Amino acid sequence: AIDFKWIRDNKDAVALNIKNRNSNANLELVLELYEKMLAVQKEVERLRGERNVVANKMKGKLEPLERQKLVKEGKNLKDGLITLEEDLLKLSDELQQEAQCIPNMTHPDVPIGEEDCSTMRKMVGSPHEFSFPVKDHLQLGKELDLFEFDAAAEVSGSKFYYLKNEAVMLEMALVNWTLSEVMKRGFTPLTTPELVRSSVVEKCGFQPRGENTQVYTVEGSDQCLIGTAEIPVGGIHMDSILAESMLPLKYVAFSHCFRTEAGAAGTATRGLYRVHQFSKVEMFILCQPEESESYHEELIKIEEDLFSSLGLHYKTIDMASGDLGAPAYRKFDVEAWMPGLGRYGEISSASNCTDYQSRRLGIRYRPSESSTNPKKGKGKLAPTKFVHTLNATACAIPRMIICLLENYQQKDGSVVIPVPLRPFIGGLERIAPK
Ligand code: AMP
Repeated sequence: AIDFKWIRDNKDAVALNIKNRNSNANLELVLELYEKMLAVQKEVERLRGERNVVANKMKGKLEPLERQKLVKEGKNLKDGLITLEEDLLKLSDELQQEAQCIPNMTHPDVPIGEEDCSTMRKMVGSPHEFSFPVKDHLQLGKELDLFEFDAAAEVSGSKFYYLKNEAVMLEMALVNWTLSEVMKRGFTPLTTPELVRSSVVEKCGFQPRGENTQVYTVEGSDQCLIGTAEIPVGGIHMDSILAESMLPLKYVAFSHCFRTEAGAAGTATRGLYRVHQFSKVEMFILCQPEESESYHEELIKIEEDLFSSLGLHYKTIDMASGDLGAPAYRKFDVEAWMPGLGRYGEISSASNCTDYQSRRLGIRYRPSESSTNPKKGKGKLAPTKFVHTLNATACAIPRMIICLLENYQQKDGSVVIPVPLRPFIGGLERIAPK
């Protein structure tokens, strides 16, 4: 349920927002389709009314000629209605399709502009000093026998990899440690379907079609491979009305993620940094609208706690309007120092999507009577509202492996395992050359 009336009534603000968000949404077309749809809707209502009048008249006692006339009139009305209702369905499909890419509105504190306008919220730690020439994760992986890139390129294509030996155990340890840390904070663990209907992908604000789509679709079916667990977790309460007492719902989901990385040519693509398939632990919250900003802070705090426990040097960024994508109202990214690559790299992002996804997915809640309807008597139900949804990366494995290998490398060629992960990797303290 996209609020087209609101979009029409706030046309200038929506147009400015589309521009600020670097979006190619076509507002004029959306509004034109909306007006057309309203006109057809009105005509449908009118014909239905007339049809009812005719039907009522036919209930009475009638002269045969008059009845014949009414039957004909009724048939004409019915035929007209069928055509109009088909038009209405087509128009409303077209409208939904066009409106799907109108971006969420933007938090007033978000810096307006391209990525370079993003502002730093916080810096934690400082780059680790090394007394020897640092290696990047590719070289470390080669020396420690942790990856197979060439075979993966043969088997699957470029930007695929095999993890091997301790790298496999490191992935499992990161997943299990992250899950257990986030579950301690009251989140319910999930594993999810990794093939989902393209309609759900769209309702979450991603574009499964088009030249530069990040989404892999499965030929001969209406399913797509997920780019993030946010999609199946977002869909878990699709088309439902939750009780206020159920909120907030906090999930932590493990899934594989698949991305075409179309349009990523020229960006950092070496090794594990930008790959087509990776594992990720993702947090997801459904809450009441008044609470989404404080849960956004909670999510970024959990990310910071996790990355600090692993001893990373990182900064958190308030992302500029041009870099928010469609669903986010505000987005905080974390960039961690990767000494081998010699730069900061994005390792996570936390978004408040307000009611953008819930409107499309149809996730509502019913406020309890006491909180919203103090004057109404018992038995009167308060009107439903859309929940707000938030998502945040708890651990995206490949870039975390880059961080750990590059930051914890030692002069003797080994890599030390951070203390919190050791119980999850059979007590292993370091990965040593074989
Ligand atoms: P996003 O859902 O795009 O915000 O991505 C969440 C996190 O997943 C990012 O911060 C990265 O750590 C990681 N990530 C995204 N795309 C890739 C990729 N192609 N390869 C490896 N990691 C990725």
